[in-house]
Amino acid sequence: MKTDFDAIVVGAGPAGSSAAILLAQAGWSVALIEKQAFPRRKVCGECVAASNLPLLHALGIGPEFIARAGPELRQTAVMRGARTILADLPLAPDSRYAWGRALGREVLDTMLLERAHAVGAEVFQPWAVQKIDDASGLHRCTARKSGSNERVILEAPVVILAHGSWEPLPADREEQRLARSDSDLLAFKANFSGASLTPGLLPVLLFHGGYGGMVLAGDGLTTLACCVRADRLDALRRSAPGKPAGEVIEAMLKRECRGVEDALLGAMRQGTWMASGPLAPGIRLKSEETVFRIGNAAGEAHPIIGEGMSMALQSAWLLCEKLMQAGQTNAASVSTTWQRAVCNDYAAQWRKKFVPRMRLASTFAYVAMRPATSAALLIPLTRWPSLITLGAIWAGKVNCPASIASTDDRFHGAIDADTCDPGPAVRTLKADDDSAGHA
Ligand SMILES: Cc1cc2nc3c(=O)[nH]c(=O)nc-3n(C[C@H](O)[C@H](O)[C@H](O)COP(=O)(O)OP(=O)(O)OC[C@H]3O[C@@H](n4cnc5c(N)ncnc54)[C@H](O)[C@@H]3O)c2cc1C
Repeated sequence: MKTDFDAIVVGAGPAGSSAAILLAQAGWSVALIEKQAFPRRKVCGECVAASNLPLLHALGIGPEFIARAGPELRQTAVMRGARTILADLPLAPDSRYAWGRALGREVLDTMLLERAHAVGAEVFQPWAVQKIDDASGLHRCTARKSGSNERVILEAPVVILAHGSWEPLPADREEQRLARSDSDLLAFKANFSGASLTPGLLPVLLFHGGYGGMVLAGDGLTTLACCVRADRLDALRRSAPGKPAGEVIEAMLKRECRGVEDALLGAMRQGTWMASGPLAPGIRLKSEETVFRIGNAAGEAHPIIGEGMSMALQSAWLLCEKLMQAGQTNAASVSTTWQRAVCNDYAAQWRKKFVPRMRLASTFAYVAMRPATSAALLIPLTRWPSLITLGAIWAGKVNCPASIASTDDRFHGAIDADTCDPGPAVRTLKADDDSAGHA
């Protein structure tokens, strides 16, 4: 078994698999480690904003994604109680990728992982990374095969953490364990067949103690996902003793949101309600690190704006671009200094691109969960529904970070290198590796 790589990626969600694809396409040797067997369902609203479609295309899964996903998302709505305020979703500037779409995570994540494997990433699945040791520029990852005691130690100068937010590495768990609090946000998701939600409509649901969303995803299934405060959930469960949490949530959503009741009339739930959390929105990215963080492992926005996968895909792109640039400059050998320099550069860009939408999401979530503020919000939105469209633009729904468009050709250049030339970034990395005596 090969154990030394240019890069090790921990976690094969949208962030990890896309980083693995980008680096492998550019000729890097990549290990992608995923602890769960795929396909697996995941708590998520499953909407992919239009801003990501050029990226999915560049990753090589664009046509397959379009073929499997639900209808183009052209309209949004704010639903609260008996009220529904409709608004247009903004049109993305590139007419080829004008609208977002939704697709089940069991399909999307599998597509990305298979693509990573197809372009040469070595996939370890189901294997879980247990710990990472750092020795002057070279990282040693200890991974364990799920359900067995088999262990392996992999080495690479570049380690990318893409393990999501609720699943910190075992070594970090003690420090991340939070005391249970009333304000904890717990997340839920279920899929329904036969729902009558208007195709292409993406409603946001506001209710006491939480928020949610609905959408028609691939295979005719409607996804209903929401976040609920722990104290609200406790109160709901006390009033329906013995009922599973998901069913209590479903009953509450139908009771408190006319749009959900109407959409689910005659619908059949497929599979169980899934739950996860508590969510921990916030920034986990640190400067001066020698490992790199992408996706939720770097930072998490309140899912009320449905931008987590955008941040996952786009942060992977941003980081890979930085790694390639750093390699191309040939300014440093692969050392702790090199890693910290790339990390600082990446962290600065990450904050610039994602902090504004995280702030917007926090404000919207705060307003949405409180009855008085969410009722007040409906007044201007009823009068000027275009404010909802504007909010979607601010949330990042249509604008692809400029660097994606501008570097598209460079990554494609790397893909086109079927001539087997791994590209200057990798040549530099390997040369530095050798000189540092790591490889
Ligand atoms: C209720 C809700 C609704 C949402 N709706 C939307 C939406 O509509 N649109 C949107 O864009 N985003 C949405 N999100 C956010 C989105 O789901 C996340 O932001 C996204 O999944 C983050 O991707 P990721 O790749 O960073 O992490 P993940 O998707 O969490 O993937 C991490 C992977 O790492 C693996 N892993 C973890 N630990 C290890 C380990 N030690 N070793 C190996 N592998 C490991 C896990 O098994 C997992 O497969 C929603 C979230 C919630 C809670």
